[in-house]
Amino acid sequence: MSTSKEPREVNSLAALEDACGSGAPRMGDASNCTSSNTGIDRRTFLGAVTVVPLAAGLGFSAPSSQTIFIAVPYPGAAKSTEYWANAEEQVRDWEEEGPEAERCTVAFAAVELKRFLMQTVPGSDIRFTETLPEHEAVIVVGPAPRVKTFFGLDEVPALPGDRQAYAIHSLQRGGALLLVGGGRQGVLYAVYDYLGQLGWRWYAPGPMGEVAAAKRTSLPLNGWKTVSTPDFPLFRGFHAEGMSKESVELFQWMARNRLNMWAYRCTSHALMRKLGLIFLSGGHILEDILNADKPMPSGKTLFEEHPEWFAEVNGKRERKNAGRYQFCVSNDAAVAYVAASIIEHFQTDWKPTDFQNVWMFDTWADWCQCSRCQGLGNDADRYLHFLAKVREAVNAAIASREVKRDIGLVMCAYEGTSSLYGPAHPVPAPLRNGKDFVLYAPINRCYAHPLGSHECTEFNRHYDEAVQSWSKVAGDLPFTVVEYYSVSKFEDLPLLFSRTMGKDFAYYHRAGVKGMSYMHIPMALWGPRALTQTLFARLSWDSGASVEKIRQEYLTLYYGPAAAPMAEFYRCLEDAYANITAWRSWAKESVNAGLLAWDGGKPQTPLFPAKHLQLDSVADRSGLDVGIGPRASIDLLERARAALAKAQSMQAPAVVRQRLEEDARLFRYGDESFRFYLEMARLYEARRLGKEGEARAAWASAEKLADSLRSYYMPFDFDFPGAGVGAKDALTRSQLRPLLDKLAGRPLAVAKPES
Ligand SMILES: [Zn+2]
Ligand SMILES: [Zn+2]
Repeated sequence: MSTSKEPREVNSLAALEDACGSGAPRMGDASNCTSSNTGIDRRTFLGAVTVVPLAAGLGFSAPSSQTIFIAVPYPGAAKSTEYWANAEEQVRDWEEEGPEAERCTVAFAAVELKRFLMQTVPGSDIRFTETLPEHEAVIVVGPAPRVKTFFGLDEVPALPGDRQAYAIHSLQRGGALLLVGGGRQGVLYAVYDYLGQLGWRWYAPGPMGEVAAAKRTSLPLNGWKTVSTPDFPLFRGFHAEGMSKESVELFQWMARNRLNMWAYRCTSHALMRKLGLIFLSGGHILEDILNADKPMPSGKTLFEEHPEWFAEVNGKRERKNAGRYQFCVSNDAAVAYVAASIIEHFQTDWKPTDFQNVWMFDTWADWCQCSRCQGLGNDADRYLHFLAKVREAVNAAIASREVKRDIGLVMCAYEGTSSLYGPAHPVPAPLRNGKDFVLYAPINRCYAHPLGSHECTEFNRHYDEAVQSWSKVAGDLPFTVVEYYSVSKFEDLPLLFSRTMGKDFAYYHRAGVKGMSYMHIPMALWGPRALTQTLFARLSWDSGASVEKIRQEYLTLYYGPAAAPMAEFYRCLEDAYANITAWRSWAKESVNAGLLAWDGGKPQTPLFPAKHLQLDSVADRSGLDVGIGPRASIDLLERARAALAKAQSMQAPAVVRQRLEEDARLFRYGDESFRFYLEMARLYEARRLGKEGEARAAWASAEKLADSLRSYYMPFDFDFPGAGVGAKDALTRSQLRPLLDKLAGRPLAVAKPES
């Protein structure tokens, strides 16, 4: 579409204007906001590379009685910006980053700016224009190159060649501000950063998570000279399996916090594109493509037809090991079959994605033992050999126009596929294209210690070594990370990671990491986890940002008069669960693993094999291979409960009370789950040591806690791979319901006291 052309259709401009925000007030209570009216703290919302402080009242400000123009560099922008801002379903060139895509996102950025400025400067008359007013107050919104040519502005600053880069830059004439991006994404981020500097915060999705800027009588337009680029430019976002994971409010929250990655979603993909999101899709796709029992046209199964494609284990290729051990990647026909299947998906259901996870079988087993596979090198070399062949096949399909656009291929550095460590041989040439990358996944890392600290030989040392091994080849194969702040075993517990995140992000950045993500972002009801998401967003833009400042500002703005007791609540909550990996993770040394494996009889092995966590530990902080002990955790939970009760007893605006209520629900669930685990662990150990009196006491406490956990739901549960949402009660989400049922059905296991 030529840039001079008007929109194809304007259904009802009035209706569109209605939908895209006439500035109707949204929640955000200005009384919660401590931002000053006259000055702006540059350090609060940033990641800025260059900052020029803005003195209060410096130079030109637009008084509220005046008109403020938002200049948008497209013909007809004065009338059609509202239309374009909501025309994402009509845009035809999202995947090509074409002119329609650009105009839609830029228009949306302009509309967002208008919407929030109307609330910031009440009574102001804010209008879109496509011509630059000479004397009135104006904010220019658009991609830097386009702003430069369209308005003939020589003062537009040069930006790095990243579409996400942006500048907030005042023009010399005064009263004119540029919010320009390297591309449409950067334009959006420039707008949100400027709004952030005015005091707006989006701590959680939806109205409850929004903090409004203090109202002003004029806008600061002079003295700005900021250029910003992300520390993790390849992507910053979330891994989200389950097709039902679509949320307009969450996607909006991501854009406002400069996050840009999620898996492709069929219903809202146009909206996601408008918000600057890229898609990283798929996962363990071989379970389906190389399903050994898949019926073939011959009437045989895939394994019966091609046993040689599957793993050789102890000299034999058997059905029982097919799909358990990694397939025979040195078998060219097997690799070609997988590549053909991936190419077919690239022409159909995976067509809209930008990066495709091509992960091996998630089996925690090993690789094919045939001599040809062994000759390929270590586990990562084998994986890379396979992925390079797929890349060659995809390249050929692109050359022959079978596949219309390139999609990056992603391998994982992960224990479950036996590919945690980096390769011994050079990265194969076909993969050195800058588009394909490796995703490092430290699933059983310890959060009592930062990843790079040398205080955690038990859990983190080998993850640290793995990071170093991939860091060495990061120049040939971009290196990215998926963290586990909400891994499935954590079951939505109110865990916090502010003590490790700052150090970890700086560590990853030093190691050359280019993309940050985590599994699996909660879709709603964040409670205190809003802090984790906020830190994730801020640190993935600026790995050197001060966690302490972000946390302090968050507590102040989010809880207003209740900030002081909530600071205590957050501190105690985080410390209480700091040893969560030893309690509840996929690690075989975890208490969770031991309890799940218990048949209900007399246990033979100790439940606390990890040095990090002992049942009778009195440790109240982390040390060398030590995490906080159960007794100190319970004390901290008591303190957290008291602090929360104090916060809830204070006079506070309704929105703050709502946030506290959400925190309280999640706190109760976490508190009861933790105590239930502790009682079950005590029961186990008492039974193992033959202390029947203690066993009876523990069982009585566990049953009481179980009754409470049964009485409420802890949403959400998402079906995979199809669509579907469910809700489980809190006891089910403890994962110990089957064990409880087993024990309840065995009266002899926990004998009642004789009366
Ligand atoms: Zn083999
Ligand atoms: Zn540790």
